[in-house]
This record gives sequence, structure tokens and C-alpha cells, in this order.
Amino acid sequence: MTATTHERTAFADLIAQLGAELSDGHLDDDRDHRFRADKWRRLGEVGLFGLPFPTEYGGAGLDIAETVSVLRSLGEHCLDAGLVFSATTQLASTGTPLARFGSAELKERYLPGVCAGELIGAHAITESGGGSDALAMRTTARRDGDDYVLSGAKAYVSNGPIADVIVVYAKTGSGATALSPFLVPTDAAGVVRGAPISKMGLRTSPMCELFLDDVRVPAGHLLGYEGGGLLVLDYVMKREILYSFAATVGQMAGRLERVIGHANSREQFGAPIAANQAVSHRIADLKIGYETSRMWLEHTAAALTGHQDVALDIAITKLVASEAAVASASAAVQLFGGAGYMSEYGVEKELRDNVAATIYSGSSEIQRDRLAALLGLRTRKTGR
Ligand SMILES: Cc1cc2nc3c(=O)[nH]c(=O)nc-3n(C[C@H](O)[C@H](O)[C@H](O)COP(=O)(O)OP(=O)(O)OC[C@H]3O[C@@H](n4cnc5c(N)ncnc54)[C@H](O)[C@@H]3O)c2cc1C
Repeated sequence: MTATTHERTAFADLIAQLGAELSDGHLDDDRDHRFRADKWRRLGEVGLFGLPFPTEYGGAGLDIAETVSVLRSLGEHCLDAGLVFSATTQLASTGTPLARFGSAELKERYLPGVCAGELIGAHAITESGGGSDALAMRTTARRDGDDYVLSGAKAYVSNGPIADVIVVYAKTGSGATALSPFLVPTDAAGVVRGAPISKMGLRTSPMCELFLDDVRVPAGHLLGYEGGGLLVLDYVMKREILYSFAATVGQMAGRLERVIGHANSREQFGAPIAANQAVSHRIADLKIGYETSRMWLEHTAAALTGHQDVALDIAITKLVASEAAVASASAAVQLFGGAGYMSEYGVEKELRDNVAATIYSGSSEIQRDRLAALLGLRTRKTGR
């Protein structure tokens, strides 16, 4: 069963109406690196964490393109970009591999809680010695009777400090079948979380290191089959990019409106600053960056919904949207002048939040490497 058109439109409208509530106190929370559990619960109440998951597990049964359109609305109306990042992390990191690769038993046990937001999820891939090159990870999982035993250390786990379950990618072999993902409850013996990591932006989305000291999980917590981790990671990353950058595209739309409002109302030399072509042309470029990103996002979401091969489209979408977002946030600081630089207006925060977009989910350099390889260029094979 899937959601009706009426329900789908209602989702996006509801998210738009919740904008003020979800943005409440976001500048203070950013300053204090504070995650807002009350706002998270609100997102859970309206069903955001279950958008693309089957209704029998408490999801809304939306397809990828529909999910992307609701997340665009969230990005546009919620100024707490860290909260939005944590929410898209929940959708991509945990619900996505669990719904697709989890056993019936595992789904019954965990997916309803993940869809409701009562269980917070994260994923742990990156390590101090292996970021872009995910296959360089050193965390291992060895089979021991009916269990797997995980050992290693992970870096930069978004949602890590608040997570109830973390999808941990570990080595179970070598080469193309090196990796396997496991759903690890954070109350399992041997799971230790580092102190929250302070960040440049997205500060309301908590992050930590994760240490696994001979953590024992039942073999049924393996997602997919042993050695199938690269397949799972590819499936997850495509959706992570679409969900996360849907919100980023929404943020660009909201920012464009604010920039236009400012350029038309702020007067210098007896005229609105918009009267200067140096200003109006820069805003025209923001529109181009936003529309190009939106079109690539919608095109790729529709293609993936239609089960087409989107390897090239995903890399282009990620590159275009992340680089346009950084450019638009940087332009906004300039166009707001001194106010753009001062914390109290929140414009500089948007730049700090957006800079991460060209790093996570495969950096710009890695996406260009992908494109080069897909074009048939004789490149070195690189990671995510
Ligand atoms: C806000 C944020 C949230 C994150 N959340 C998570 C999370 O929840 N879970 C998780 O596992 N990880 C997470 N990460 C980590 C993220 O996935 C990595 O930071 C990213 O993959 C880059 O890895 P690295 O930091 O080790 O950098 P490196 O891989 O060391 O890269 C450093 C620089 O070298 C460049 N580079 C590397 N290899 C090549 C190459 N072959 N060709 C050209 N240039 C290259 C990179 O593009 C980059 O500019 C998060 C990161 C950020 C910023």
C-alpha cells in the first residue's frame, strides 16, 4: 500500500507549516551545539522518518521522487540545517538498508521504531585512515558461532551521540567482497562512543567517534549477505545523496527569496542595492545555480524511482547541488554586507552549514573521479 496523492501533498504542506516551530531557537542551538530532541519528536509525529518505507512497518510508502519533494520542503522551511541533516541521515543510514536488506525478523524488531523516530539511527563507514577510500577501513567482523564479533574504531559518525542503532561497515574479507554492514545496537557490550565532536557547521547535528571493542551481534544483524557491503553502500549512498541534497536544494530556494527581499529593501546611494547590476547579476546566478540543482535532483530522483542506471546522474547531481549551495551561501554573506558576516542574522551560519556538502557523501574530487571513470578515461579506481 502506498500513500495517496492527497496524503503526499499534505506532507509537504504540513512541513511548510511547521517551519517556524522547527526553526525555533536555531541560532542559539547552533552556538551551543545543541540537538533538539523536542523538534526530532515533532518530525517523528508527522511521519517524516518513515516517508520512503513500507506502510506495514509504520512508513508512508512514498517513492524516492515523492520523498525528495517532501525533503525539499523541509530544507526550505526549516532553518535548523543540523536538524535537517540528522533527519536525512536517519532516513539514509538506517531505515534505507534495513528496509531493503534486513531480514523480516530484523525489520519487525527495528523498522517501526526507526520510522517513528523513537529509535535514532546512524552509520559508521569513515575511519581515521579510510575516508574517501572506504576499502582502507580496518574495522573487522569475524563470525563466531551464531554471532559476529566487531572490532575497530570509526570517525565522524553523524547522530552517533544520540543513536540507538548504528549500521557499522566492517571488513569480513578482501577485494570487492571485503565489506559487510551490521546493525549494531549502541547498548551492546563493547560499544563506546567518543565525546561529541565540535564542527564548523551543522552543529545541531551531533557527531562522535565510535569504538567497537569485541562487540558481539547476532548473525541476523548482518544486512544483506556476507561480503555484500559495497552493494549496500552503493544503494545507500544514492539515496543519501538524493535525500540530503533535496534538503540542500530547498535551502537554496529559501535563501534566494531572502536575498531578493534584502536586495530590494536595502538602500544605499539613494536606491535599492538591487539597482546595481553587480548585485542583480549575482542574484541571477543564484537562480541559475538553484534551478540547475533542482532539475538535476528531480531528474535523478525520477530516474532512480524508475529503476534506471543513475551512476552518472548521481555524481552530477551531488556535484552541481553541493557546489551551487556553497556558492549561494557565500554570495548571500556578501550581498547582506556586514549583516551577512554577523552571527545574529544567521546568514554566515548557512555558509558554515553548506561547506560540508562538498565533503560528505563522497567529496567533489571523488565525484569528478567517478565521472571521469564513467566517461571511459583510464583513471585510477577511487572510492565512494
Ligand atoms: C558533516 C559531515 C558528516 C559526516 N557524517 C558521516 C557519517 O555519518 N558516517 C561516516 O562514516 N562518515 C561521515 N562523514 C565523513 C565523510 O564521509 C568523509 O569526511 C569523506 O568521505 C572524506 O573522507 P576524509 O575526511 O577521510 O578525507 P580524505 O579521504 O582524506 O580526503 C581529503 C581530501 O583529499 C581528496 N582526495 C582523496 N582521495 C582523492 C582522490 N583519489 N583524488 C582526488 N582527491 C582526493 C578529498 O576529496 C579531500 O578533498 C561526515 C563528514 C562530514 C564533513
